[in-house]
Amino acid sequence: MADSATRRGGPVAHASPTVTLNNGVEIPQLGFGSYQIEPEDTARAVRDALEVGYRHIDTAEMYGNEAEVGEAVRASGLDRSDVFVTSKLDNGSHARDDALAAFDRTLSELGLDHVDLFLIHWPLPREDRYVEAWQALEEVHRSGRARAIGVSNFAPHHLERLAEETDVVPAVNQIEVHPYLTQDETRAYGAEHGIATEAWSPIAQGKVLDDPTITEVAESHGRSPAQVTLRWHLQRGDIVFPKSSHRERMEEHFAVFDFDLTDDEVARIRSLDRDGRTGAAPDEMG
Ligand code: NDP
Repeated sequence: MADSATRRGGPVAHASPTVTLNNGVEIPQLGFGSYQIEPEDTARAVRDALEVGYRHIDTAEMYGNEAEVGEAVRASGLDRSDVFVTSKLDNGSHARDDALAAFDRTLSELGLDHVDLFLIHWPLPREDRYVEAWQALEEVHRSGRARAIGVSNFAPHHLERLAEETDVVPAVNQIEVHPYLTQDETRAYGAEHGIATEAWSPIAQGKVLDDPTITEVAESHGRSPAQVTLRWHLQRGDIVFPKSSHRERMEEHFAVFDFDLTDDEVARIRSLDRDGRTGAAPDEMG
């Protein structure tokens, strides 16, 4: 048995495995989320994450910290090709020209000549311009400045419309997923159509960490509840990017590549589903 300091943090021996997206681009399955990190703390947090071993950073124009994410990536000394950067089109920029201008703004804020993945942040069905926004992202993709494009917070009926009216299948759909919101229907749609699922708020912003089933499984593996929850996502095949401003938690979250949950444990955690959203539902926003 490894000692608990190594298991819960300490030196990290493994890099994240990757998932191959539907256009052949490889994305590290475990990344770092930057939502709700204040801009003045973001460069430090992203630098810590890169030092710990993360090679995938998730940001968005909406988070107000793209500049600081880019600053940390550029200052890291890592090859640009070794760090996977995702950003997102903000609400209010779904019209074609606005979307193209927003993408230019994102690159300029990041100080990079391309992103690895660019997403429509929310479908905003009442505005009803997500098809137009997707066509703008297709243009960006053709220009080579986004290696892959995808969507976020799309339900199957939104994805169906893209399939009917546009050419490129989204590489990912980034949605809220955790043990209290297992998202079987949307994940199954993605699996059937080659759209990888990215799970946002993977530990439900901490709300699942006191759950008796999760703490029991964690104790039986000598791991923390956060580690067991992240391991559960990875074994289901989803892409995750937990957020923490604390370096010791970044280390804890990254030390999840050297143990396995049993099929029974994966099923027990899945059975905790209770429609427990922490954020808005796809049709609610906008
Ligand atoms: P997470 O599920 O990653 O939880 C983050 C919260 O949990 C923070 O408050 C953090 O606090 C706390 N926390 C982290 N680790 C631990 C731990 N080991 N024990 C106790 N508390 C802990 O939530 P997020 O909402 O941040 O989701 C992750 C990422 O997903 C975001 O950062 C963003 O990149 C993306 N996202 C995308 C959305 C979308 O609409 N597309 C919506 C929401 C998120 P502390 O920092 O103090 O450690």
